[in-house]
Amino acid sequence: MTRLYGGVETGGTWCVCALARGPREIVAEDQFPTRDPASTLEQIIGFFAAQPEAAAIGIGSFGPVDLDVSSPTWGYVTTTPKPGWQHAAVGSVVRDRLGVPVAFDTDVNAAAVAEARWGAGEGADTVCYLTVGTGIGAGLIAGGHPWHGLVHPEAGHMRVPHDRERDPFAGSCPMHGDCWEGLAAGSAMAARWGEPPERLGDDHPAWPLEAEYLALGIVNLILTVSPERVVLGGGVLEHPRLLDMVRRRVPELIAGYLEPPELGVAVDSYIVPAALGDRAGVLGAIALAQDL
Ligand code: ZN
Repeated sequence: MTRLYGGVETGGTWCVCALARGPREIVAEDQFPTRDPASTLEQIIGFFAAQPEAAAIGIGSFGPVDLDVSSPTWGYVTTTPKPGWQHAAVGSVVRDRLGVPVAFDTDVNAAAVAEARWGAGEGADTVCYLTVGTGIGAGLIAGGHPWHGLVHPEAGHMRVPHDRERDPFAGSCPMHGDCWEGLAAGSAMAARWGEPPERLGDDHPAWPLEAEYLALGIVNLILTVSPERVVLGGGVLEHPRLLDMVRRRVPELIAGYLEPPELGVAVDSYIVPAALGDRAGVLGAIALAQDL
């Protein structure tokens, strides 16, 4: 019988726990609001304690987080602005209380693993997964595994050109002002236009500007990582025309410097919408557990 694996997505607002044999065989699942660390961890531990034992549990957490397995604070959420969660132990508490191996990564990396393995990135070895919602997160998958380095990639905070004549908005990132997220996340759109993105009409000038910023950042990722596929998710990308505007603009910005079909006639199968929706985080956490 296939072994059972646990997956936990601790998001800024909601936590999802699941026990599964694989992505299409969920045995048990629960979700609840993310509150303070102590009571949230109690609920996570209580969920798994009431189930048959998992061979391993994967956790995809909001961040930033400590992923260094040799660090005494491995499995901690670190400098998050979320109240009460600064330097909160998560991975080590679940591991020690339940006595099972725990894989710990960012929620974005978990979602990226799931999309690369079972979703829109299936079949590609190197995948850039980008989610544009309240913030911007990017997960880079190489050889099926999320890219780690000194810490973890935070491409949402990279710098992109900001034409202040076209867009005088100063940017909304509390750390950097007009970084990519500060210019192009859903919260930046809401601050710039006075309406959340879902209330901006199809012909609103917000959309061509948004497409320009997203294309600029995606071009930087393509030139740096050379992914075999780019997967775009998150609420802002649900706007019906935005994906196509980005697909048209990316090859224009590459400007013929690279000429694979993916950056020309085949761009529609290269820059693709995410396939797993809000299931990606918890499914990716299960994938992380399977890989332990
Ligand atoms: Zn920033």
